[in-house]
Amino acid sequence: MLVEVVRAFAASEGIPLWGTTTAVPLEPEGERLAEWLARGLHGGLSYLTATAALRSDPTRSDVLRAGAQGVVLLGLPFARTTPDTPAAERAAASYLRGRNYHRVFRGVLRRLAGRLREAVPDLAVRPFCDVLPVLEKALAVRAGLGWQGRNTLVIHPEAGSTFVLGGLLLDRPLPSAVPLAPACGDCRRCIDACPTGALALPGVLDAGRCLSRWSTAGLPPPPALPHGPYARGCDVCQDVCPFNAGPGLAPYVGFYQRSTSVPGKNATSTGGDSSPASGADSPPPKSAEKSVKKNRTVPATSAAPVRPRKT
Ligand code: SF4
Ligand code: SF4
Repeated sequence: MLVEVVRAFAASEGIPLWGTTTAVPLEPEGERLAEWLARGLHGGLSYLTATAALRSDPTRSDVLRAGAQGVVLLGLPFARTTPDTPAAERAAASYLRGRNYHRVFRGVLRRLAGRLREAVPDLAVRPFCDVLPVLEKALAVRAGLGWQGRNTLVIHPEAGSTFVLGGLLLDRPLPSAVPLAPACGDCRRCIDACPTGALALPGVLDAGRCLSRWSTAGLPPPPALPHGPYARGCDVCQDVCPFNAGPGLAPYVGFYQRSTSVPGKNATSTGGDSSPASGADSPPPKSAEKSVKKNRTVPATSAAPVRPRKT
């Protein structure tokens, strides 16, 4: 039943990417996260070290009092750069051009939590979009939203990687999707194109060298770091990805208009089957943790192609 609620919500809001997964301790992702931190690749994001154990296990009661049993993942596409993109907008990475995605996502997740609680009044729910210590990308892969590419982003065959992730932890079980097979193949365009060498270890992000990470944190990159083509953020490893060629999916309208009560169209879904449910809403988080980047939030780990993933 809960999955059907999510399905209907996604269709009504025009959210093309969604899925569900069972909440379980995340392995091998947790081990990869620990290794990534131990190697000092987190670029000084100390909160990642402090919350590593939590991130590796969404079932812990520190995150949701009763412990999460199911996870809903949503992917909201943002507009890519096209030949029609005004020159003035090209200075910023594409995910920075619309409204603040944390704010938009917060509204979306509130509405979804409300729908779920209508169906199951005692449901416990906790929303996340860069704000909770969860491995969003690892969960997204398990929910069938894509595979984790060598640029460390979740890539969907139709949507590419130009979407942001968010979701809900629930205290009721949800089914997991069949993960999509990694399809980077022999490609390494993102690795070769990165202006700073932040992807020198394929599938693993050196956050200290990632221009997007510094921009997202509101800090200037270290002077010694090479500059990229963007004044704010960085899209280079997405621009060169063949899965991002063309216009991509229609962007989520809430990013580009004042009101987020946007009736959607095209809900292409990615996920879910049916399942049980529950729910009480928890207030949306007030502050977002510094994310490394959009659909590249916290270093994640997943069943990627060949290599270690970034977090
Ligand atoms: S966002 Fe830019 S700096 Fe960061 S990994 Fe991608 S290409 Fe490199
Ligand atoms: S550019 Fe190539 S290697 Fe990098 S994420 Fe895209 S398909 Fe994978």
